[in-house]
Amino acid sequence: MAKLIDGKVISAAVKNEVATEVAALKEKGVTPGLAVIIVGEDPASKVYVANKEKACEQLGMASFKYALPENTTENELLELINKLNNDSSVNGILCQLPLPRHLNEELIINSIIPEKDVDAFHPQNVGKIMIGNYDFLPCTPAGIMEMLKYENIEIEGKECVVIGRSNIVGKPMSMLLLHKNGTVTVCHSRTKNLKDVCRRADILVAAVGRANFVTADMVKPGAVVIDVGINRLENGKLCGDVNFAEVEPVASYITPVPGGVGPMTIATLMKNTLTAAKKQNNI
Ligand code: NAD
Repeated sequence: MAKLIDGKVISAAVKNEVATEVAALKEKGVTPGLAVIIVGEDPASKVYVANKEKACEQLGMASFKYALPENTTENELLELINKLNNDSSVNGILCQLPLPRHLNEELIINSIIPEKDVDAFHPQNVGKIMIGNYDFLPCTPAGIMEMLKYENIEIEGKECVVIGRSNIVGKPMSMLLLHKNGTVTVCHSRTKNLKDVCRRADILVAAVGRANFVTADMVKPGAVVIDVGINRLENGKLCGDVNFAEVEPVASYITPVPGGVGPMTIATLMKNTLTAAKKQNNI
């Protein structure tokens, strides 16, 4: 039976540390502030944005929410980002993805100045992560690294397999595991013999976006299994990319969905906003 890696407990520990630092910053007259922009009515995005606002409140940070209508033009959005880029009470800016199709996601992401890019999606921040000399780490992969650290799971020399090569999760995840001296393989929709590749993994990270995609026969006995997926089933329940019931008896550690990687993503976002506030105020 695998040990459950509890994202709620670990994220609470991270948030506690952030809250302590926020209180100290406030005594110096600095309140870290996060601006969150949401365009349109995507129900999942609305939940994520609400959770981010709640986390800011909990930790004593200021949150500024901009809920824009679906038909917002690119220029209107760029204008808002420009205003926030120049607002000293805003230390971090986040534009909730996905954006409606008429908006150029790359253009929008690139318009947030790197110093306030707390998602670490700007090419300048992505480049810094490649080199290993960074200010911010992307929230989901960094949250996963925090979980592995919390559980004292060794990465050096281990076979690490990441399923998924998105810019948000898969690619940066593989880079962070590489920085910790893992032997990293990245799988994707064109990978051949996926099952055999996955079975090599000491640490298996699933970021596919397909419910119950990872089955027991893809997991080496004793592997650490990290489930990034958030999939909504027809009955309304959330479900990960890993078939938990099948895989849990085979793995040594496993993250649940919900209550696994999700809360870590938000905790890292708060940490990044704090870092941004400190840097912008030379603290
Ligand atoms: P994405 O759609 O951008 O990428 C999915 C990746 O899966 C692609 O690189 C693709 O090549 C790969 N893939 C698809 N089919 C495959 C197959 N049959 N075999 C092997 N690889 C395959 O998704 P994403 O943004 O990386 O997100 C992945 C999942 O993680 C989603 O469920 C998303 O909701 C979730 N997510 C969770 C958090 C969190 O905080 N927990 C954060 C971001 C994303």
